Order: sequence, then structure tokens, then C-alpha cells
Amino acid sequence: MNLVREDQAREKWCPFSLAVARLEGGEVATGNRNVDDGSPFGGTHCLGPKCMCWHADINSPDMGYCGLSVKAI
Ligand code: SF4
Repeated sequence: MNLVREDQAREKWCPFSLAVARLEGGEVATGNRNVDDGSPFGGTHCLGPKCMCWHADINSPDMGYCGLSVKAI
């Protein structure tokens, strides 16, 4: 488990992100992110507490980790 602050998490790529792209013909390729957030990687970053997989640390609520990044016991 790697604890990070929420603002740090939002700078990390989410391996489960799927970007939305507008194609040349106007069609839209769908995914689970909006790419128009102004960042170099579009909207493919971790969503932090807006994601159901985010686990906040009980001792430091502004810190947390991706629940999908830990090993199942
Ligand atoms: S907490 Fe959610 S948004 Fe963040 S890396 Fe994990 S799955 Fe992706």
C-alpha cells in the first residue's frame, strides 16, 4: 500500500481509466473519463475520493491509496 495525498493521486495515471475521444467524423469514443481537463494525460488520472476504490487513511483523511492496488489477503 502506498499512501499519497489526494492532490498527488490526481497526478497519477489510473490503470482503469478509459478516455473519451471525439473522432474526426464527429463520433465519440466512449470511456469512463472526460479528456478535457487540461492535463497532459487528459482525464486519465486517479479520481481520488471521487472513485469508489479510493481508501482514505483513517489517521490522515487527506491521505489514501487505491484499493485496487493492494494484494487480496
Ligand atoms: S482509486 Fe480509483 S481512480 Fe484512483 S487509481 Fe484506483 S481505480 Fe483509479
